[in-house]
Amino acid sequence: MSESSRWLSLADELFKTNPDIFNEDNYSVQSLSIYLRDLGRCVYCGLDLLQQRQHAYHFVSFDHLLPKDKYPALAKETTNLVLSCRACNGPKRQWNPNYDPKIVVGDGPLTDEQREQLIQRVRDYFREVNASRNAKFDRERELILTAMKKNATMAATAGA
Ligand SMILES: [Zn+2]
Repeated sequence: MSESSRWLSLADELFKTNPDIFNEDNYSVQSLSIYLRDLGRCVYCGLDLLQQRQHAYHFVSFDHLLPKDKYPALAKETTNLVLSCRACNGPKRQWNPNYDPKIVVGDGPLTDEQREQLIQRVRDYFREVNASRNAKFDRERELILTAMKKNATMAATAGA
């Protein structure tokens, strides 16, 4: 039994015994099998999407690793869908990790190895685009924390 068919059969079994699982979000057996295969974590940043209800219900999305506008044949292909938090899925958008040298040629299902290699390219891309944003945020956080401390000092002085 292949990796994806094993996950599909586990998801199917879970659905049969618990038909209302995640039904508020209209999960299909396919979505549930992706959730299981990716161990309930965003494949890009590692966020644990099962840690609490808010994450499981509001932070989850399913990303098309190879964007559907360029790979319409893979739009519904389980091997091309990955569990992703919304914060990662948003900025990735239609960015295509299958640049030269191409990892995937053609329209067939992705192998586990191809999926891992493509995920790694997206992680590298995020590291690159987020470097300056993270540095800017570090400065912003310092400004906010400094203002909070200043307020605490002013309040202490006013109370004295
Ligand atoms: Zn993420």
